[in-house]
Amino acid sequence: MSPFNALPQLGSAAIREAYPRTYAAFCSMPEGEVWFERLVELDLHRYRLLAAPQPMVFFGMASESQPAVGGTFDVIVAGGCFGLIVGATLAAHYGWRVLVFDRHWVGRTHRDWNISRGELQRLSEAGLFTPSEMEAFITAEYDGGFVKFHAEGCYLAAEPLWFDDVLTVAVSSDRLLAQCRQKLLATEGSRCLDQATLERVQVEAEGVTVVVRQVEEGRLAFRGQLFIDTMGTLSPIARQLNPRETVSYLCPTVGTIATGFATGSAADEVNARVGEILVTTEHAREGRQLLWEGFAGQDGEFTTYLFHYAPVEAIERLSLLALFERYFETLPQYKRPGAGFAFRRPVFGYIPGLHHVGLGPQKRTAAHRVLLLGDAASLNSPLTFCGFGSLVRNLRRITHLIDLALKGQHLDEASLRLINAYEPGVAIMAAFTRYMVADDGEDPKAVNELLNIVVEALHQLPPSVRTGLFQDCMGWGDFVKLMLQMQKLHPNIWEAVPRKLGVVYTWAWVLNFIEFSSFALQKQLAAVAGEFGQGVREDFYNYANYYRYALA
Ligand SMILES: Cc1cc2nc3c(=O)[nH]c(=O)nc-3n(C[C@H](O)[C@H](O)[C@H](O)COP(=O)(O)OP(=O)(O)OC[C@H]3O[C@@H](n4cnc5c(N)ncnc54)[C@H](O)[C@@H]3O)c2cc1C
Repeated sequence: MSPFNALPQLGSAAIREAYPRTYAAFCSMPEGEVWFERLVELDLHRYRLLAAPQPMVFFGMASESQPAVGGTFDVIVAGGCFGLIVGATLAAHYGWRVLVFDRHWVGRTHRDWNISRGELQRLSEAGLFTPSEMEAFITAEYDGGFVKFHAEGCYLAAEPLWFDDVLTVAVSSDRLLAQCRQKLLATEGSRCLDQATLERVQVEAEGVTVVVRQVEEGRLAFRGQLFIDTMGTLSPIARQLNPRETVSYLCPTVGTIATGFATGSAADEVNARVGEILVTTEHAREGRQLLWEGFAGQDGEFTTYLFHYAPVEAIERLSLLALFERYFETLPQYKRPGAGFAFRRPVFGYIPGLHHVGLGPQKRTAAHRVLLLGDAASLNSPLTFCGFGSLVRNLRRITHLIDLALKGQHLDEASLRLINAYEPGVAIMAAFTRYMVADDGEDPKAVNELLNIVVEALHQLPPSVRTGLFQDCMGWGDFVKLMLQMQKLHPNIWEAVPRKLGVVYTWAWVLNFIEFSSFALQKQLAAVAGEFGQGVREDFYNYANYYRYALA
């Protein structure tokens, strides 16, 4: 299926010929070869999402010989991005002995994050950072941001929609993760292990044995009470536990951090005080509706992303390499390079999305002594891109519940499945992701047409609706208002529902709405009881119930 048999090197003739712009750009970047290797690895591993799962977690006594145990921890985490944030909180705030390992470098990722100050505050509520520590990884702050969609020939053309509290802060992932690493290592008994690839997890009655292959030391084994999988969208364990459907959508995303763009207020110039949250510059082509995003960082840096939404079945067409080639070709039309323009670093990845066909989280996010978090669990909204936002919002809930689960030995699957970032108001958004997909044979302007209607509806509604939508925290009332407003603007807007969603997903959306409605009601009722209940007992199930309504 894949065009390559082994990982191709940046300098290989195959890459130079097939992806000349990507080749030239990566060659010009510091550590271009290292980033390229990670890019190609992800690009090829995407096929695993549809391939037969390869078991990695085994239950019961080990049937094959394992290396001697080289260390014992309370929690062992695979994946050094969100895994490091969770691991650092468990170690530094709760005092657990944590091992975090990564097949590359623990705390070095190929993405940067935008968020708002209000949301970032949750990191300090989770006990991870003090407000002054957070200042060290905030690299830029904007006056506001906007979304704007191409409207040529569309039913209506909405004016740009402005926000003053959505994605207004740029965070350096390198600095944030470096601080997490420091905090974790400062906790006695905790450790980070780089260049260690997960081979096997053996779950026994009394604990887990995790076997990794480390580049210099070979096979190593570690013992722990709980294993956490944060290996991202393509996690083999997520696939093993969810062989029927690991994710429903993939959003391939590529971009760079660069310096030297022309500055100013024209559409193709960059303005350091303004974030471009979502922008389209043309209608769909070749079955892809491309979207841009652009944000300033520090010292004249500007990050641009190009991405599109697709169902996972279209995996063949979801190559990051191919998208990068298109990105480097069209970037100058989105933002014009000025004098001294240079690429500093690539950013890329697959953003996951999941349809919950039923009530409650439909993904299996735990097994006995095994817990999936972050993109491996895929419970955040693919629509808004806010995986980091989802982790930040849920960090206190997740880490506090892990602490209580460890103390009370609630490490069975049913208990661990209560530790997740599932939110009914986010689950309902999966249906809208389907509308972002440009289907074969569909009118190329269809996605932009809908987006212009949504934006126009948001213009006519109070600002809380747009903020809620783009921060993944939309209230039930605001959601209903938005649906009704869209209907008012375009009475035939729901005609496309059966065609876009099909029978199963239309039904799923109805169930999601029923769940969202009943959740909104329960949340109201739980508000009083929850606040009283919160401190009554330091008990896992008491808090699992309390956090369900996100009262913390
Ligand atoms: C380009 C881009 C921009 C984004 N921007 C934003 C944003 O502005 N705001 C926001 O809220 N969200 C944003 N997101 C989403 C957010 O970055 C993700 O949700 C987040 O990175 C997920 O973290 P994770 O740790 O779950 O997975 P990943 O970041 O994918 O990390 C997985 C880690 O596991 C390691 N690994 C994989 N397999 C193995 C193995 N077998 N053994 C050992 N280690 C392994 C990998 O090396 C990797 O380090 C963005 C995503 C992308 C792709």
